[in-house]
Amino acid sequence: MSVTENLSSIVKTIPAHVQLVAISKTKPVEVVMEVYQAGQRVFGENKVQEMVAKQESMPKDIQWHMVGHLQSNKVKYIAPFVSLIHSVDSQKLLEAIDKEAGKAQRVIDCLLQVHIAQEETKFGFNREELLTLVSSGTLARFPNIRVVGLMGMASFTDDEVQVRREFHGLHLLFVEMQTVFGAHFTQLSMGMSGDYLLAIEEGSTMVRVGSSIFGERNYNK
Ligand SMILES: *Cc1c(COP(=O)(O)O)cnc(C)c1O
Repeated sequence: MSVTENLSSIVKTIPAHVQLVAISKTKPVEVVMEVYQAGQRVFGENKVQEMVAKQESMPKDIQWHMVGHLQSNKVKYIAPFVSLIHSVDSQKLLEAIDKEAGKAQRVIDCLLQVHIAQEETKFGFNREELLTLVSSGTLARFPNIRVVGLMGMASFTDDEVQVRREFHGLHLLFVEMQTVFGAHFTQLSMGMSGDYLLAIEEGSTMVRVGSSIFGERNYNK
């Protein structure tokens, strides 16, 4: 199947209130353009350099989402154009985003990444840290950041029960945090190619789908 056919068969499975972020990492501009021509306008990348290169050479009505671990010293390259950062996982990164957003005279929408998987390697805040961010007044020090929700990645496992449990827990946390973070806190980014339908059932508002649209990634090229 072509990427266009893949896209349309996925779009059919996604309810209107859920946003599809097409994860185009490692894929060349020509292929990403096919998906653009089919109507997709929201794309996600996980590397700063690659996102900047694609943003420069592709149409300007694309909304670029950063979904990968972001280093503070690289925020400046994406601050002028990024439309949502899904992967905010530390106070240091919040400081860097606020500073660079200020320089770019923008307010940047961010999601706070929450650690929900069993693996030790996944980045993110826990419940207590989220509560502290607000109650300590830390977040209020960042006027150029608008926290619009949470993001999480489930464990890398075939165990559907476990994945569902992790998504369910993240949704409960999201609902709890809506009362703490306020009116703009509306987005819950969870679900990838292998688990996005489960994630939608558990309350996701934003799914990040890569390989089901673009095919498997080849990192050895
Ligand atoms: C690569 C990536 C995805 C997409 O993964 P697929 O399994 O290819 O859909 C989603 N989220 C993040 C954070 C990623 O890095």
